[in-house]
Amino acid sequence: MKILTVSDLVVERLYTLAANHYFDEIDLLFGCGDLHYEYLEYLLTIARIPLYYVPGNHDPKYDEYNKESKAEGGVNLDLKTTRVGNLLIAGIGGSIRYRPNGVNQYTQTEMYLRILKLLPGLLLNRLRYGRALDILITHSPPFGIHDEDSQSHQGLKALNLLVRWANPRYHFHGHTHFYRQNLEKSTTQLYNTQVMNIYPYKIIEINDV
Ligand SMILES: [Zn+2]
Repeated sequence: MKILTVSDLVVERLYTLAANHYFDEIDLLFGCGDLHYEYLEYLLTIARIPLYYVPGNHDPKYDEYNKESKAEGGVNLDLKTTRVGNLLIAGIGGSIRYRPNGVNQYTQTEMYLRILKLLPGLLLNRLRYGRALDILITHSPPFGIHDEDSQSHQGLKALNLLVRWANPRYHFHGHTHFYRQNLEKSTTQLYNTQVMNIYPYKIIEINDV
């Protein structure tokens, strides 16, 4: 299965690639946050691939009655688990809180409380399929991995705990930007999980059986 993952930055070239059938082989589109929803809507419409995404700290607060707050045709995966083909996926939106009234921002403690909402779905997966999760999609990185010392780019400690417990094969995230791309690693192993910084996009091929 081939997955197109996008995050944080609109890459103009992807419009052209989508229009020229470059993504015909792609099965799924994942958005890791901080992207204009028109960009996600364009990619899912032109490339005709199902979209699952989480909101970032620059995205509007989700409101099911407000069209502007979601990507039409896509699934907002924030605090949800789902199964796509044979893949068990779950999502967590938002970043560390760095402004008192910032949208989609949470303290480390609030994030621990948020991930509790995923546990029933993950436990059910473990009972049904013998594993809790295959792919975790978040906006923020875990703490100490691909994150930065600045308050706004500090990783979330709750994600380290979740990765350890749920043991997914992959964790895709955005939020931290690799401007010095050839100098920094964008993939790091955490326990048994490949943690990948998606910024600004990656095409990932995974075994889904
Ligand atoms: Zn962000």
